[in-house]
Amino acid sequence: MNESAPLGMTRTAVAPGDVAQRIASRHLRTVSRAISWIENGEPAMGPILDGLIDRAGQAMVVGVTGVPGAGKSTLVPALARQFAADGKHVAILAVDPSSPLTGGAILGDRIRDAALGETGIFFRSIASRGSLGGVSRTLDDVVTLLDVAGFDVVLIETVGTGQSEIAVTRLAHTTVMVTAPGLGDEIQAMKAGILELAELVVVNKADSDPRGAETTAMTLRQAIGETQRAHGLAEGANADPATGQAWLAPVRAVSARTGAGIPELAGLVLAHRGFLAASSGLADWRRGRLETRFREALGDALLARLRETYGSEEAEAKASVLSGATSPLKAAELLAKRVIGALPRE
Ligand code: GDP
Repeated sequence: MNESAPLGMTRTAVAPGDVAQRIASRHLRTVSRAISWIENGEPAMGPILDGLIDRAGQAMVVGVTGVPGAGKSTLVPALARQFAADGKHVAILAVDPSSPLTGGAILGDRIRDAALGETGIFFRSIASRGSLGGVSRTLDDVVTLLDVAGFDVVLIETVGTGQSEIAVTRLAHTTVMVTAPGLGDEIQAMKAGILELAELVVVNKADSDPRGAETTAMTLRQAIGETQRAHGLAEGANADPATGQAWLAPVRAVSARTGAGIPELAGLVLAHRGFLAASSGLADWRRGRLETRFREALGDALLARLRETYGSEEAEAKASVLSGATSPLKAAELLAKRVIGALPRE
């Protein structure tokens, strides 16, 4: 078999070893194609990423969430430009709500790519395909890819609704929640628990309503700080490496449009990264990612072996579920027991 066959989706087929090498040297077209392969579940990408995994863990992963209209898609490029101006290699991932069938993501990509063209910032949207497992796993692989490709900063922008937000929060070192004065969503955000997960809170559009922005910022500061302030903590400043728990999310009013407050925001992202590095946060994050990858790979490997050897038993069990004779859980457990019981333990 031709070694390049698994990656035959390319016009000119590329051997997996070459793909890995090009990814590691940040060859942008290969990175872009590799993202498509990940999105499409191309099996050859698993071993390629696995072979590069020891290079991972350098990128700063920043998730940006918030309700639609808050200004995320304006803020994210502004923040990206700031990091790029500071000499960093920056990638933006937009978790796109549009269906892959409509081509909406592709059109959006072209427009944004053109806007970011000269800055050297890599932009790509990931279509959210409805299933939480699907999106979070795709995202995890794409972030790993960008990390091993040597991007210093990976900014992930979410659509601001649904579960992709939670997936991004889990994946990011630093989650930035964006709101704007007059949106009235602060309370909602708190209820949804998103505020608790945010390490930085941004009140955007301070240019159009400076007083409203400050009032919103005050309300949010109070909501975040009540408990922590009682313990004598100040915003983001007095991170305690011993406990690793002392980061009090700073709240800042900024304007993505005029750029006011953006340099400080970039500084706060770096400060949070420094906090994670000084506490056990960064090491915990790395271990968590490795554990997730291992668990998923183990599931895949077991399922693949099962299908190789016990394909007909799986088909039987499935038929039994579909006919209503056995419940899904029972059928799965019975099959697992039967297969594991049959394996010699060496
Ligand atoms: P998203 O849905 O959160 O991605 O929000 P967008 O970035 O699309 O912004 C929604 C609207 O707010 C757009 O019309 C933007 O031009 C506008 N907008 C974004 N940032 C600012 C800002 O800093 N100031 C003002 N005045 N308008 C903004």
